[in-house]
Amino acid sequence: PIQPKEKLDAVDTVCPYCGVGCALTYYVDRERGGISFAEGRDQPGSQGRLCVKGRYGWDYAASTQRLTKPLIRVESSYPKGALSQDVKAESDRDVVRKGRGEGKGEGKGKGKGGRKPGGLVPYDEVMPHFREASWEEALDLIASRLKEIHTEGGPGTIAGFGSAKCSNEEAYLFQKLIRAGFGTNNVDHCTRLCHASSVAALFEGVGSGAVSTTYGDVANADVAIITGSNATANHPVASSFFKQARRNGTKIIYVDPRSGTVADHADIFAQLKPGTDVALYNGIMHEVIRLGLIDRDFIASRTSNYDELARTVEAYPPELAAQISGVPVETIREIARLWGEAKAGVIYWGMGISQHTTGTDNARCLIAMCSITGNVGRPGTGLHPLRGQNNVQGASDAGLIPMFYPNYQPATDTATREVFERAWGTSLSPENGLTVTEVIKSILDGGVRAMYMLGENPFLSDPNINKVRKALSQLEFLVVQDIFLTETAEFADVILPASSYLEKDGTYTNTDRRVQLGRKVFDPPGEARVDWEIVQEIARRIGLDWNYESPREIFDEMVPLMPDYANLDYDNLGAGGKLYPIEDPDLTDGTVVLFDERFNTDDGLAHLVPAEWLPAKELPSEEYPFVLNTGRLLQHWHTGSMTRRSFALDAIAPRAEVYMHPDDAAALGLAEGDLARVASRRGEIVLNVKVSHREVPGNVFIPFHFREAAANLLTIDEIDPTGKIPEFKFCAVKVAPELAS
Ligand code: SF4
Repeated sequence: PIQPKEKLDAVDTVCPYCGVGCALTYYVDRERGGISFAEGRDQPGSQGRLCVKGRYGWDYAASTQRLTKPLIRVESSYPKGALSQDVKAESDRDVVRKGRGEGKGEGKGKGKGGRKPGGLVPYDEVMPHFREASWEEALDLIASRLKEIHTEGGPGTIAGFGSAKCSNEEAYLFQKLIRAGFGTNNVDHCTRLCHASSVAALFEGVGSGAVSTTYGDVANADVAIITGSNATANHPVASSFFKQARRNGTKIIYVDPRSGTVADHADIFAQLKPGTDVALYNGIMHEVIRLGLIDRDFIASRTSNYDELARTVEAYPPELAAQISGVPVETIREIARLWGEAKAGVIYWGMGISQHTTGTDNARCLIAMCSITGNVGRPGTGLHPLRGQNNVQGASDAGLIPMFYPNYQPATDTATREVFERAWGTSLSPENGLTVTEVIKSILDGGVRAMYMLGENPFLSDPNINKVRKALSQLEFLVVQDIFLTETAEFADVILPASSYLEKDGTYTNTDRRVQLGRKVFDPPGEARVDWEIVQEIARRIGLDWNYESPREIFDEMVPLMPDYANLDYDNLGAGGKLYPIEDPDLTDGTVVLFDERFNTDDGLAHLVPAEWLPAKELPSEEYPFVLNTGRLLQHWHTGSMTRRSFALDAIAPRAEVYMHPDDAAALGLAEGDLARVASRRGEIVLNVKVSHREVPGNVFIPFHFREAAANLLTIDEIDPTGKIPEFKFCAVKVAPELAS
């Protein structure tokens, strides 16, 4: 029988999935164990709303597949990466046809009447190659091997990937360990794969990597551009604010190659060809200037480099922009007029903007769009890259970036370095570290030899994973700290059982800059430990004198080093968190709109950086005629390690599919549900066809959550030269029917 609500223990916390960071309450049945249900909680950014992931996606934490003891690799005859060859083999139609429930990876839950997820890591095959160990043995081994390699090869041989799923305090400690413990800035996390280019452009343009206003501020806009963002799937509760604003009169302009469901709620839908954003926005700015709809006072007093920008966009009349982007000339003119005449205009963007080799240029154009029309620094105006992970904003703020200390203070700046050297009591590297993609290359080149991977799964999340596999196989020593045996953990020498966010306290910062408290619901299972405690254990063993006793103590150390977080402490975050920067947390919720008087740049001006349109790196050809776009589904999260172990979510979306336009499917003789083989120059996968009017002919879309049809076998590892982000949104593929044998 279901316990009445009043008999359940209510724990107020935050959703662990996307950057919206919805506040929620878990109702916990302490007598029988487990969460009974989740309910949205009131907070300015979510107002009690939850999407399907927040409401139902918490049961993964109780999965029988949780890691509960440290593991050490035992099989020297079992080369690293041998099993991962199965990624390719598992893409074979036999496995696809088996579908959910009959894959070989059901692990400990097998035979116990539980559900049987298909496509997950085959525990039964991997586990025999590891043996259980005590924490002492595992930690001692990690410390001795990392020290040995460090002593032999120097700081550049060590790298760490932290996690945007962990708390601010854990991110801070992890980067401190790599920097202070190993003397290198080789520390990065998945921000490199989502908004690194946006952050680079924002830093250069406005002097801050965070959003200039909230998604709720859309209510004050008369025009909002939502671009490169399938917000209904990726930021569902934020998208509900967009729809609500439209009902109240805000005009929505939606720009995307895919007709995501936001398009259904838009006043104008500009379905551009993938990779043509710079041409389109230059064309719109050309027209805004031609119509005289720029804000001359704002340009004169608040920006620099306007003349050069104007000269560049002069070469992009709407006719040319239309020819390149495929958006009709009339639509470009209509957008320009609407945007130019808006009294308050705001731009929200997603990874359709950032995940290109021109990602920084794309974001530069959006900064210029807002700046030349005076649409920054007032309610209903501004720039908002919708951050992906629940704590990617916070992890970046806390310094999990190879070129920045906490609060985006440059690692190469001597004065900054001295501040951190004094604070941490050690000397630090004066050189920028390697990014995620650069680390992979460095391993292959013999540079990085050992890695500490906290909660990242690059074997599914990084581009061109055949290359990633080669790199991970080549590492001399790999530590993986996670809650499940991920695809990356198959390559590990030591695996440490960590805690899910339900099992620890900490702060998390959402896409709006809202810092909220996450609260512990349960103890970690078995011998699993809280992540910050594990990081501290390793730090002590390599000689750092760390004695933190709680996340609060870590937060207290961080905040004085992070000017943007000034005035925040554990006790004044309130029930709904606080938006930084904030003067007095006891009196206000924080600052919604930034840059009302000056930008954070040295001269206080917005720096306009013109961009020329460049085509994507790998264009369609006769042999590979389709453009592949990758992304997420509403029901799943990144590499699926959590959501594919969540019963409700996996039941709704159990398998990988390639989405294609009906005309393309028909031309290939494919119908809904048929098997298709999708191949690029780097790999191939077999998966079912999803016929979708939301795709444009010539483009296909594949979500990257599914091991058994890993989209990143196909993607290209070319990167943006500034943001170093890979081109996940564009590579050339071919599609063919996969005939049943
Ligand atoms: Fe969680 Fe994001 Fe859904 Fe909110 S919108 S419930 S934060 S996944």
